[in-house]
Amino acid sequence: MREVRIRDTLSGEPRALDPSGEVGIYACGPTVYSRIHIGNARPFVVFSIFARFLRSEGYRPRLVVNVTDVNDKIYAAAAAAGEPSGEFARRMTRAYLEDTDRLGLGRPDAEPLATEKIAAIVALIGDLVSSGHAYESGGDVYFRVRSFGDYGKLSNRRTEEMDQGEEAGSASLKEEALDFALWKAHKPGEDTKWDSPWGPGRPGWHIECSAMAEAELGAAFAIHGGGSDLVFPHHENELAQSEAAGRPFAQIWMHNGMIETGAAKMSKSDGNIFQLSEALDRYGREAVVAYLISGHYRQPLAFGAEQMDEAVVRVERLRNFFRESQVSEGGSGEVSPSQQRGGSVETSPDPPASRLAAFKDALADDFNTPRAMAEVFELVGEANRGDVLRASAVPVLTEMLELVGLGTLTQPDEGAEADSAAHELMVKREEARAARDFERADAIRDELAGRGWEVRDSADGPRLVPKA
Ligand SMILES: [Zn+2]
Repeated sequence: MREVRIRDTLSGEPRALDPSGEVGIYACGPTVYSRIHIGNARPFVVFSIFARFLRSEGYRPRLVVNVTDVNDKIYAAAAAAGEPSGEFARRMTRAYLEDTDRLGLGRPDAEPLATEKIAAIVALIGDLVSSGHAYESGGDVYFRVRSFGDYGKLSNRRTEEMDQGEEAGSASLKEEALDFALWKAHKPGEDTKWDSPWGPGRPGWHIECSAMAEAELGAAFAIHGGGSDLVFPHHENELAQSEAAGRPFAQIWMHNGMIETGAAKMSKSDGNIFQLSEALDRYGREAVVAYLISGHYRQPLAFGAEQMDEAVVRVERLRNFFRESQVSEGGSGEVSPSQQRGGSVETSPDPPASRLAAFKDALADDFNTPRAMAEVFELVGEANRGDVLRASAVPVLTEMLELVGLGTLTQPDEGAEADSAAHELMVKREEARAARDFERADAIRDELAGRGWEVRDSADGPRLVPKA
């Protein structure tokens, strides 16, 4: 078992995981007011693959990713859609599950919904009110920020720079502008509400996560994760609530950088590949996963058609390696260069094994996926050049790719892996159309249909949709 270290946002230091017990990981999930976008997929992919790696090393991870299914944005989006907010949230939760299922990484160990944990949330707010860390005002309940001396320690902000980002209407109910809502009184126009000692209403966003993390993982769990945009106020507030209530909280804070879709980079033709489902339709799951682990999780990651095309090329390089390896299988009598030179095979180090060790060491060292993937491509290059035996590289590369959720690339010609091949065909069809060779374009469209894909032309350009 490797020592796995993660750089903790709170201390700024690398911290080793305790291998002796369960490694509880709580990662903030989506607020389901729309289909999720590629930025929401990053924490899902990072924490799913991180948990998979920990399991392979002999740790016992338990990954919890919550769903925020009651919220102002959900009320607004449901009203705009002319749908009851509860139904709307259920529909969007199903869409989230479908979209993330398509990543092929399995499900987290638990995916609690806020609306299913109201009792735990109300109990935690009750503890904060009775200990003087929170107060009722006009049917709302607010956290008294000045009552928690360590407030600001996670985000390292001065209180003058803090803005809770809450609606202006609540200002008159607060003792201080810095305070934030734990419970919001029911308002006209909101079509859901729950009973509480402070009257009917619904929980605030921050308290949901404090209550759900403790309900699923107990106090003092190993890792709290989420996007770096959540450090303030969301995580600062979670930490304050839980510690003020006398509950030790996360031991390590692990934040992923943002996906950057800068206006300039997102041309019209990129359209809504910003949505995870569209990116999956267009590029296939392996390219999406490969893209999302192409940068270090803590760093921002640029997103656009160019980055996705690069991911497709990398994925195809791996798929082709395995396709060629299958062809050469069956004993062409591969001879290693060291044997050709008469060198001793016994005494030379085993390059695939040392690459595998370096790959795992990179993942253990603050989950450095780009460094790990560099080992993958180094080994592919060595095998292609004949510096190492293909037969000895294949099992090592298979283990590496399975660890990062790309194991399907090692079975290049099985049904579900048609996505990238289909993508290539779509590009060829575009070229044919640009050359006004409509006969050929139609022939490619028919070939795609035979593979189960439909090309849909839209104002944003063509995209692939699985045929119903
Ligand atoms: Zn959260």
